Amino acid sequence: MSHEAIEAAAAEAKLELCPFCGGSAEWQSGKYADGAEWSFIACSQCEAQGPHVMRETLTYKDACVRSWNNRT
Ligand SMILES: [Zn+2]
Repeated sequence: MSHEAIEAAAAEAKLELCPFCGGSAEWQSGKYADGAEWSFIACSQCEAQGPHVMRETLTYKDACVRSWNNRT
């Protein structure tokens, strides 16, 4: 699956609003120095972040969304 397709699928996943400030959640992603890629969900208004999840696993998106949505 291309990264574009993954991002599109991720964008479709329902994200709850930030549990701290009510801001909208956004996908963030990047690369480590060794080339491994990661993604996480972060609030667009405060510093809240979900856990970083390696993209190596096909379920990373679900893991990100679940962990973000379940935060309290
Ligand atoms: Zn927030």
